[in-house]
Amino acid sequence: EEALDRAYFGCPDRSGDGSMLPLWCNIAAVSDIDQVLQNDGGGVGLMRSEFLFLGRQSAPGEEEQYNAYRQMAERLGGKPLVIRTLDLGADKQVSYLGLEKEDNPALGLRAIRYCLRHEEIFLPQLRAILRAGAGQDVRMMLPMVASLAEVRAAKIMVERAKTQLREQGLPFRQDMPIGVMIEVPSAAMLAGEFAAEADFFSIGTNDLVQYLFSADRTNPNVSNLNRPYAPALLRLVQHVAREGAEHGITVAICGHAGQDPLLLPLWLAMGIGELSVSPASVLSLRRALSGLTQEDCLPLLEHVLGMQDTDDVLDCLQEFRSRHA
Ligand code: PEP
Ligand code: MG
Repeated sequence: EEALDRAYFGCPDRSGDGSMLPLWCNIAAVSDIDQVLQNDGGGVGLMRSEFLFLGRQSAPGEEEQYNAYRQMAERLGGKPLVIRTLDLGADKQVSYLGLEKEDNPALGLRAIRYCLRHEEIFLPQLRAILRAGAGQDVRMMLPMVASLAEVRAAKIMVERAKTQLREQGLPFRQDMPIGVMIEVPSAAMLAGEFAAEADFFSIGTNDLVQYLFSADRTNPNVSNLNRPYAPALLRLVQHVAREGAEHGITVAICGHAGQDPLLLPLWLAMGIGELSVSPASVLSLRRALSGLTQEDCLPLLEHVLGMQDTDDVLDCLQEFRSRHA
């Protein structure tokens, strides 16, 4: 199997009938770029920047972050690099940011919520990302966004960072694209409104399913509710994909569901614009994609979107895959 996948190195991310579905990678460190290149990933669709902040005694400053982001972009040699701003809180905690102990950290002051209240952490990161984008295809995306006000506030901060850099004469990417992660149900519901404020969407299915079903993604007692085959999740993703298309922005998926070969025909049929996956799954997904056509996938999508039960969806997807593998 692996040799068959390897044969797809250098091939386009294209379905059997010619639709493109770019396969990019999720990474957490500069050293992960090797894996992206070794597996022929088209770029980085999710750089989890919080990993630069974990396992240390103090926050990395602007220069340290700039160096890391810059190295990633340079090693990618022109392939896009989407840097997600700090997504700390919930399961990812550090001692030094003064995060208060909360009863429900997954529902608490995390990610963009924290950043908007801690300029001393957020501004240096925004500056580092903007600077890393000078002459490079670096893009920025915002995690855990729940309201339009958060996007607008973050964009004001980005403008502040740009003004500072301009005054200091430091080079940066003037037209830095700003994407919004869709991983909170409130944002998914208002996808049309968010699309007017965002340069692209990336759906974080790990959190979206957790918040949609009120089922902790790390709690095995409720893992039965935490499944990406759930009709409620699929219908919501379809809604986001449609709203994104209507507003002319790319809708990516960067959660784990994006690399599930059972779900690939649905993403193709929905017109998802990019999947960001683990580097190790790029070539097998590319191979699977080459065997799919809209003619087969569109009726499958219509069929599963009409279902009520998660297990029925799973059965149906397995049956489809056994016929198309
Ligand atoms: C997600 O929630 O799907 C996601 C990609 O982000 P993370 O897994 O880092 O929360
Ligand atoms: Mg998430």
